[in-house]
Amino acid sequence: MEEYLDNICPICGNERTLFGNRQAKDGIICRNCAKKLSPWLSEEDIAEITVEELKKHIAYREENLEKLDQFTETENTGAYEKLSFDKEHGWIIFSKRNNLKKENPDLIPVSAIGKSYRSVRRQAEGNGLVNVYYTVEVDSPYFRKVDFRVNPFPGIRKLSGEYNRALEETKAYDAFLQKIRQENPGEEEPLIRYEEYDYYDD
Ligand SMILES: [Zn+2]
Repeated sequence: MEEYLDNICPICGNERTLFGNRQAKDGIICRNCAKKLSPWLSEEDIAEITVEELKKHIAYREENLEKLDQFTETENTGAYEKLSFDKEHGWIIFSKRNNLKKENPDLIPVSAIGKSYRSVRRQAEGNGLVNVYYTVEVDSPYFRKVDFRVNPFPGIRKLSGEYNRALEETKAYDAFLQKIRQENPGEEEPLIRYEEYDYYDD
């Protein structure tokens, strides 16, 4: 009996499969529950969150999915990862826009947007290739930051055309965020500060 219980997801009560499970702080959750979490939670983040907190997180994600119906894009920037803004609601989403309902991108209020920066991360294989990432700190109880690869295909050469395009894209994200923060009435001073550094990921 105990062995059986050990294999049960503490969130949904279903039996866990062999792959795709995630280690939370005080239990292991199943693949289906893990898929419901925000894409902005890393494996490391999940490992620091309790099962009870993850249940609240999933409830928040379900609310997010419902509110997504109201999202009406007024402006956007970005090619591979698109930053969309809904001026009426003051919401930002980052998404690949293949299937918005499936992706369920977190609706981020403009007021929750913090510092943003880009980083150039070397690929682990040591083949001299890099990826350009863009990170936005977010003041949310459910995730700490948005962090994504800007170049569509992983592994590009420094100073190549793709690399320069990715850098330009990060500047466009910055300008866009800066602009909508400033336009949003009643907001505090824009928190965005531009930083640039090389971060090696090996
Ligand atoms: Zn589950």
